[in-house]
Amino acid sequence: MQTYANISNGRPVTSATTFESRNPATGETLGLVPHSTREQVDAAVAAAKAAQPAWAARPDAERKALMMQVAEIIKANSEYLASWVTREQGKPLGGVGPDQVPGARFEVWGCEVWTQVPASLDLPVDVAFEDATRRDEVHRKPFGVVAAIAPWNWPLLIAIWQIVPSLRAGNTVVIKPSEYTSIGTLEMVRLIAEALPPGVLNTVSGAGEVGSWLVENPDVNKIMFTGSGATGAKIAAAAARNLTPTTMELGGNDAAIMLPDADPKAMAMGLFWGAFINMGQTCACAKRLYVPESLHDAVVAELKALAEAMPMGDGMQPGMVMGPIQNRMQFDKVSRLVERARADGATIVCGGTPKPGPGNFYPLTIVTDIADGAALVDEEQFGPVLPIIKYRSVDDAVASANRLDVGLGASVWSTDVEQAKQVASRIQAGTVWINQHGMIHPMVPFGGVKGSGWGVEFGVDGLKSVTQPQVISIKK
Ligand code: NAD
Repeated sequence: MQTYANISNGRPVTSATTFESRNPATGETLGLVPHSTREQVDAAVAAAKAAQPAWAARPDAERKALMMQVAEIIKANSEYLASWVTREQGKPLGGVGPDQVPGARFEVWGCEVWTQVPASLDLPVDVAFEDATRRDEVHRKPFGVVAAIAPWNWPLLIAIWQIVPSLRAGNTVVIKPSEYTSIGTLEMVRLIAEALPPGVLNTVSGAGEVGSWLVENPDVNKIMFTGSGATGAKIAAAAARNLTPTTMELGGNDAAIMLPDADPKAMAMGLFWGAFINMGQTCACAKRLYVPESLHDAVVAELKALAEAMPMGDGMQPGMVMGPIQNRMQFDKVSRLVERARADGATIVCGGTPKPGPGNFYPLTIVTDIADGAALVDEEQFGPVLPIIKYRSVDDAVASANRLDVGLGASVWSTDVEQAKQVASRIQAGTVWINQHGMIHPMVPFGGVKGSGWGVEFGVDGLKSVTQPQVISIKK
């Protein structure tokens, strides 16, 4: 059984203790992952700190060119990396590009694009004020060492979102992948770190404890965290001790609202993928759908037909569209929430019964006759389940969307875009999509409000979030 290595100061590093990474479709052990020690975490941060001044001092054009080289490395290794995503995370290989099944090849293609875009963006000096007496320029400076902590749902893509803008802006990085999906990320970093000076990009691996050692290190100057709100709160407490600025991309419970003039047939496919991409294990998935009584039966019929038509299985097999739930903890949570809804009188329109092993397979599940207040509606189920809730008035639907303490995304579905925009402006969420859901883009800022996070990633605003302003004020 192969033990995969971390990269620290440009060298592979293993540990005395390891843990297994398992294939969620088969239960097979894929390899062993080092459990980084506290000393190794500190050494990785020290390497990043030592490498940072020279990295930041490089001409910007050189860092840009190196990021473009990183994109080429990802492209050249795309099949290898996609197979890790499928075997370790579960999403099927699928096709490439936005019109194909958004599987592992899509994830790796996303890594390439989300590397090229920050590499091509600039943060020019901004003249905040100028008159005959003074000129005030705002320059953007790197923070120093960025600690990045990633989740298991899009293990390579989210790592790239954290790594590439940080490096592009002149920071160095230590990243800890999720303990559920470490190998793919370690392998991606091993490949791309070959193009970078030692110490610029480092990894540590292990469970939450290793993440806590990383974020507590006083030489960390900025934290990028993507994961659950519960962990986010612990990281915020650790960050408070050193006053470390933190970007938090946390959980959501996105509402999708169909307005009475929506077209269920034409919109069903968009709604389906909005809810079930990556088996619903996506922060900005539609996790509760609000429909008017008049559209309810038609929407349910359309979504049920799509849900039942999607082939599910081991994503390494050709033709699979849906894979397993990534881990048993998440699988049990989904099962428990559906059982509770059933016990409380909801209708399970399709799915609702776990498939026998091996593998964490749970069918795509649509639930009706359910209302706000049910655990399946109020909690982030983060799985292949969509509760469909009838509403009486659009005001009620907006109130439902806003009643929870999270606000990552939301969507409004209508044939009248102006009307949809008015509804969208009343929803408390970082992004409200109209006639699409979860359609993130590398040029468009993305982040949550309320308990869904602090700050944004992507685009110019995302690049700014891994820098700090420095004003140079000149007397004339
Ligand atoms: P999680 O919070 O359990 O784990 C995330 C990471 O934090 C893992 O690497 C874990 O090891 C680490 N960690 C755990 N305890 C820690 C501690 N005390 N200190 C430092 N690090 C610690 O989340 P998860 O289950 O891996 O991911 C699913 C969650 O992530 C969902 O809530 C989902 O909505 C959210 N998410 C949000 C976004 C977004 O952009 N807003 C994107 C993807 C996922």
